[in-house]
Amino acid sequence: MPAVLSTLRNRLLTRRTLIYASSSLLVGTGATLYYLNSGPSFPPSTKESRRPPPPWSPPSRFANLQSLKASSQQEPFDLLIVGGGATGAGAALDAASRGLKVALVERDDFAAGTSSKSTKLVHGGVRYLQKAIMEFDREQWALVKEALKERKVFLHTAPYLSHMLPIMLPVYNAIQLPYYFAGCKMYDLLAGSENMSSSYIMTKSKALETFPMLKQDGLVGAVVYYDGQHNDSRMNTALIMSAVKHGAVVANYAEVQSFYKSDEKLSGARVRDELTGDEFVIHARGVINATGPFSDSLLHLSSQATTDPSCPKPSSLAQAPASKHKNIVAPSSGIHVTLPNYYAPKTMGLLDPATSDGRVIFFLPWQGGVIAGTTDAPAPLEKDPVAPEEEIRWVLEEVRHYLSPDIKVRRGDVLSAWSGLRPLVRDPKHAEESGMSHSSEDVNIFDLRSIPGTAGLVRSHMIYVDPQGMLTIAGGKWTTYRAMAEEGIDRAVKEFNLRYDVTGRDRGAHIEKCVTENVRLIGSDHWGRNMFIGLIQRYGLDAEVAKHLAESYGDRAWTVCDLAEQYDETDDGGFPLHGKRLVDLYPYIEAEVRYAVEHEYAVKATDVLARRTRLTFLNAQASLDALPRVVDIMADHLGWDLSRKKKEIRNTVKFLESMGLKREVVEAQFKDVGGFPEPIPRGWKETIFVNAERSLRRTVDSVVSGFGFFGSSSQTQKQTQNGAVYMNSYSRAAFDRNELAALRAAFEAYASDAGLGSSVEATPTLTQTTLSMSTKSLPISKVIHVLREVPGYQQDGPGSDLEKDLKYVIDEAGFRGREEVGFEEFVEICGDLKEITLALSFAGAGKKNRKAIPVEKSGGGV
Ligand SMILES: Cc1cc2nc3c(=O)[nH]c(=O)nc-3n(C[C@H](O)[C@H](O)[C@H](O)COP(=O)(O)OP(=O)(O)OC[C@H]3O[C@@H](n4cnc5c(N)ncnc54)[C@H](O)[C@@H]3O)c2cc1C
Repeated sequence: MPAVLSTLRNRLLTRRTLIYASSSLLVGTGATLYYLNSGPSFPPSTKESRRPPPPWSPPSRFANLQSLKASSQQEPFDLLIVGGGATGAGAALDAASRGLKVALVERDDFAAGTSSKSTKLVHGGVRYLQKAIMEFDREQWALVKEALKERKVFLHTAPYLSHMLPIMLPVYNAIQLPYYFAGCKMYDLLAGSENMSSSYIMTKSKALETFPMLKQDGLVGAVVYYDGQHNDSRMNTALIMSAVKHGAVVANYAEVQSFYKSDEKLSGARVRDELTGDEFVIHARGVINATGPFSDSLLHLSSQATTDPSCPKPSSLAQAPASKHKNIVAPSSGIHVTLPNYYAPKTMGLLDPATSDGRVIFFLPWQGGVIAGTTDAPAPLEKDPVAPEEEIRWVLEEVRHYLSPDIKVRRGDVLSAWSGLRPLVRDPKHAEESGMSHSSEDVNIFDLRSIPGTAGLVRSHMIYVDPQGMLTIAGGKWTTYRAMAEEGIDRAVKEFNLRYDVTGRDRGAHIEKCVTENVRLIGSDHWGRNMFIGLIQRYGLDAEVAKHLAESYGDRAWTVCDLAEQYDETDDGGFPLHGKRLVDLYPYIEAEVRYAVEHEYAVKATDVLARRTRLTFLNAQASLDALPRVVDIMADHLGWDLSRKKKEIRNTVKFLESMGLKREVVEAQFKDVGGFPEPIPRGWKETIFVNAERSLRRTVDSVVSGFGFFGSSSQTQKQTQNGAVYMNSYSRAAFDRNELAALRAAFEAYASDAGLGSSVEATPTLTQTTLSMSTKSLPISKVIHVLREVPGYQQDGPGSDLEKDLKYVIDEAGFRGREEVGFEEFVEICGDLKEITLALSFAGAGKKNRKAIPVEKSGGGV
């Protein structure tokens, strides 16, 4: 026995086996350590995030305007940046952080354009990678690589506003599985050390466990990859405020109307303060055009610049110089809808890379809702584009393909809908060859495949200096805003000789060096992922509110909380102590309105509702509900009187209509008070006035309806019904008891003869029918006739879409091909129909042949 052991020991403990064993151990330990340290890196938590950061208040808008007006030909700004979206804000921060004297003007609110209407992804674009590989396109490959690098920088400089999001590609065809997986792995590899987390395959059961709403039938499995997601308009605001902190002077609602030039180069611009109508000239050594889809309009103005330093508007001149500029921008639109959050898991998105018409669809959790959308349809150039009803229905249809049959995504589930314009830019050298239009008004729908010379469309962004020396930066995507700014300002420093000041003094090499890779945006320095706990402990906030504040304002959340009023102790059992919500369903609080006005240049209710908070993007109806209070708080800070408050409410309602809210809904909801939400009166004078107005309206209404003038009583009945339905409901249909009785009666009346080929004319009247539970069924072809009998559903007639909408909801409810419906099914159809009336009216007839923009030309987004 000892002999056997000793032989064994001699055999095992040879030098070779020892070397093998120790190297395996070494490799194993290394691999384990690598594995343990792989995956996403999170910013380290520090004690700093338990305390408020040093206080900082930006200069007011008024003070900024004074500084802009104070510029002169002798003391100009180094740069005037026109446009306060991602591109302009990024450029302002880049230039100011190098030490340049920067002015930025935006004609609307910061981020009011495309930059608040994106898909909110911080990404390289898996779709572009696919193109790069399939078409051996090195340029495309390089663009994806650059965006992946920027994705990492983005998450580092604004950690509280952006985060990693796993996105699932469900696979219904086994052959696709290795294809998608290889593609996603390639995406990881291309990101290299900048990768967030590795993509992986999910089994069918795991996919269903993670995404229970997924259609099970035919599901093979799923591939999951990682990208970034952010809060676009808050990111934009953070960029603007960071630029201000570095010394930039900014003004929203300030439009550039004309330019002047000296020595054949632009030297300043006439700007109009949209709030006061005041006009003034800003003098600058160089002008940057960052107006996105509107780049051409500025290029036309530049081409018409005169040498008069008072900078007259071309329209005011007896003989305005003709514009020599050829348009270079083709707008491409993308629409998104917000759906209730129960349609997707909170921590996983979904991507359909191959929809019915070849476009990509994203279905992503965002800010407590779910957004679904697509891009790349040619569109006309307009300031507040509206999502076309046809596109909304297309998105819903595509989403339905992926969801389990027991889930019915309805048109009425759309809580908000918006459209954004992407500037597809053409290299100006090609613009002439392709015969693109000369006039700015002419920028219209292009089918880019049909016009010659599409090769000139720039894949990513474009930097162009026109003959008057204006530097245009356009195109690209949100993800690459920083790289675009770096390139743009590097070029501007050279073009405008900014290393030297006006007197020719060398300011130093730092002017030529971009530092933004390491400039953390405002709110980032003292932010930590657990900061919200400190907020709860200090201010007694409810946890959802605290988390939302920390993720929207970073360390500035402390300042927001300082502006929060204390709750009345008797409210809600004494908790929360601070943080009164604007509407019950969302964590936005009143203090945010105060913060937006005092610290973030919000001057209109839309600024607060849509861009400082994101309530409008999440739910247009909830925004409407919050509107009077928002206006009330703003009025307190901005000194608005009653008529100004009313005006603000009306303007905001108009904006909400561009975000998917239907005018009739608002009218019905506020019928008793003039069709708009009433302002909250402050002080006894306003209270008396509002009450008097209300009483007068009531008297007039009762007189009018009492005498039955103009058939107003039937109209009132209809509106009251709808009003009752819409009141307190977030775009959900509901029926009141009388309405259900009317529907039942009408149903019974037709169902009794029906199925049955009876003619419409021979129908019994509603009063002849019984209201007992029906076991009958109604031929689907008769539904429209029944509806015409029911008050509130009769909006049929010339120009009406009732028939078309009915066909849509019958399909939506899954009754396509059915001959008959029972009463419950009939009610379901009516419910869907009512929800559809909440939507914008459907103007398109049938499915249009959609023109498409080749995805690889679109330069960004999804
Ligand atoms: C539907 C859609 C989805 C997208 N999704 C993504 C995404 O998920 N990820 C991503 O990385 N990128 C995405 N993008 C791209 C990204 O949103 C844009 O590249 C970016 O927002 C463009 O910013 P911008 O500043 O150039 O333009 P804008 O945001 O449009 O800003 C231009 C500004 O100029 C102002 N202006 C115009 N004329 C004047 C004037 N005369 N005086 C003063 N101001 C003026 C306008 O009011 C406007 O605010 C998407 C784009 C679209 C259309």
